[in-house]
Amino acid sequence: ASFTELGLIPPLLARLTELEYQQPTPIQAQAIPSVLAGRDLIAGANTGSGKTATFALPILQHLHAEKSLSSKNSKGNYVTGLILVPTRELAKQVADSIKSYAVHFNGAIKTVAVFGGVSANTQMLALRGGTDILVATPGRLLDLISSNAIKLDRVKTLVLDEADRMLSLGFTDELSALLTLLPSSKQILLFSATFPEQVQALTQELLNDPVEIQL
Ligand code: AMP
Repeated sequence: ASFTELGLIPPLLARLTELEYQQPTPIQAQAIPSVLAGRDLIAGANTGSGKTATFALPILQHLHAEKSLSSKNSKGNYVTGLILVPTRELAKQVADSIKSYAVHFNGAIKTVAVFGGVSANTQMLALRGGTDILVATPGRLLDLISSNAIKLDRVKTLVLDEADRMLSLGFTDELSALLTLLPSSKQILLFSATFPEQVQALTQELLNDPVEIQL
């Protein structure tokens, strides 16, 4: 399949051509149409599989469609697409990829990364007025919520990236706390290299009739 056949829109297709992505990776080909259709997803995928584009492109496409429909652009201090990751490095890397995929939206979609180990002040400033997409490590995100810097009650898509690493790094309690703050109706996409019991329990509890992809 080609990216066009997966149902992606021209501003994204143009960017993929510029990035010299000649064809979708297996996970992209299998998952993108379902994610665009709003299904939940559970994917066994390692770094290098193209998992970032698998969630980033549909999230961007949904946001673009929403913005074309509504004239007002007030975000409050809400976020629409939330991506939870285990580490600061991954947070930066995922946010950079999303910004790169979004270049032909001409600044209409805002993406912010927040993570621990640095001062929260700059991140609080970046979150002023809300953001369309937030890439976050769980602990720092909880801190920012406590400071009223961001609210999760309008999240439409939640991504758990490297879920196994997130749980093995001890983020289980933070994750549970965050999940209670999300609206009950949302799309959830879970990516994990391995599926130990803890991850299986999480998927059972969280996902609604997910598409399952094991590469
Ligand atoms: P990821 O697995 O998301 O960390 O992506 C691994 C690398 O593959 C990144 O450098 C991406 O830019 C690149 N990549 C993702 N999808 C494709 C594709 N369809 N064709 C070529 N490169 C890709």
